[in-house]
Amino acid sequence: MDAVLVINADLGPLHRVTVQHAVRMLCRRVAEIHEAEPDRVIGVFPMPRVVRLVRYVVTRWRFSAGPAWSRGGVLRRDERCCAYCGGPASTIDHILPRSRGGRNTWRNTTAACYGCNQRKGDRTPAEAGMPLRRQPVNPGWAALAGR
Ligand SMILES: [Zn+2]
Repeated sequence: MDAVLVINADLGPLHRVTVQHAVRMLCRRVAEIHEAEPDRVIGVFPMPRVVRLVRYVVTRWRFSAGPAWSRGGVLRRDERCCAYCGGPASTIDHILPRSRGGRNTWRNTTAACYGCNQRKGDRTPAEAGMPLRRQPVNPGWAALAGR
């Protein structure tokens, strides 16, 4: 059998490729020989039976990991609408203020206009009597793309 097994950098098996394909991977240095056929060579290489990727390739879609938090991302997620008055927003408000331990996370930040942000100050929405018009959520990739 001529097919060569490709394994991931963590030694997990991935798929089989032709010997020619495996040799191209060796030439491009994306893979290294993990197991070779004894006493057989192909060009300058021992005849590969198993090649191992040099860099780990993520093969499973990671549903859990969403986009990293950013100010611009919060404004895009909230479509630049203030969470308190619904007007155009240009600032980010920390729902639990940073001065009180609030962090830069999707759920603790929301788009807000300058006026509401100033008015709320170092208070929670409940303390300030400024209810949120929407609860901030962790956005998916699609919500941030292309806007
Ligand atoms: Zn506002």
